[in-house]
Amino acid sequence: MIATAPVVTRFAPSPTGYLHLGHGYSALFAVARAREAGGRFLLRIEDIDRGRCRAEYECAAIEDLAWLGLEWEQPVRRQSDHMADYARAIDSLDGLGVLYPCFCTRAEIAAEVAAAARAPHGPDGPRYPGTCRRLSDAERAMRVVGGRAYALRLDVEMATDITGSLSWTDLDKGVIEVRPEAIGDVVIARKDTPTSYHLAVTVDDQLQGVSLVTRGDDLFHATDVHRLLQALLGYATPIYRHHALLSGADGRRLAKRDAAKTLRELRAAGLGPDDVRALMPAAGR
Ligand code: GLU
Repeated sequence: MIATAPVVTRFAPSPTGYLHLGHGYSALFAVARAREAGGRFLLRIEDIDRGRCRAEYECAAIEDLAWLGLEWEQPVRRQSDHMADYARAIDSLDGLGVLYPCFCTRAEIAAEVAAAARAPHGPDGPRYPGTCRRLSDAERAMRVVGGRAYALRLDVEMATDITGSLSWTDLDKGVIEVRPEAIGDVVIARKDTPTSYHLAVTVDDQLQGVSLVTRGDDLFHATDVHRLLQALLGYATPIYRHHALLSGADGRRLAKRDAAKTLRELRAAGLGPDDVRALMPAAGR
């Protein structure tokens, strides 16, 4: 008999606000996929954005998920406790020569995009125009020595020259070809913290042995970036399943700003866990 590894799924909230119905659905969706495969379910706290994350929201998320009836393995991985793991991955990428420092401010990038006749757009809006990719080594060194803050970006063209063409599998949508040109040179280490969403998620999914990544459709295109990083870092590639986002009565997707739809508001309004589950599509129940 061939032994197959157990399915491992995870829910990875960022504690930047209270969890809403959409988060509850995403968490239950991940639990349901693990349960139906006889697998494992993990919870991860994605708190690298120190300016926006609050301990209060982390506590509230754990309390709300437990109230909904979720159970997860211990210990919970908190990204801010694992910066050394991200530093190691950055060293590996740097060793491949695929990173470059980017000194641009958001305002400078916006101005450059606005000035370009046909600014390249990706699925998530305008792509980074590549300003700092074109700096000479001497110019880079001068700015670093001058104390200018910088992020590290991935030179996607150089990275795909190394990896060749790539694809990944979404259980609902099939085999997806990575389109590097649509991605642009994403940030790997931010100016304010030496990692980024893309890097931390890729490293964590690998280190935690996540084999089935379930998450909302809003992160569908981010998976191209993660697949590219996996190939560069020699990581395994999980299977993916992106689910539809819940929308509110106005048809817009639920977001943390929709305070009335937070799990605690629903609970305060007298709903029990089963009532809240009944508000969700069947795939989460
Ligand atoms: N932390 C991300 C979020 O709250 C989710 C990351 C992921 O599932 O890959 O949107």
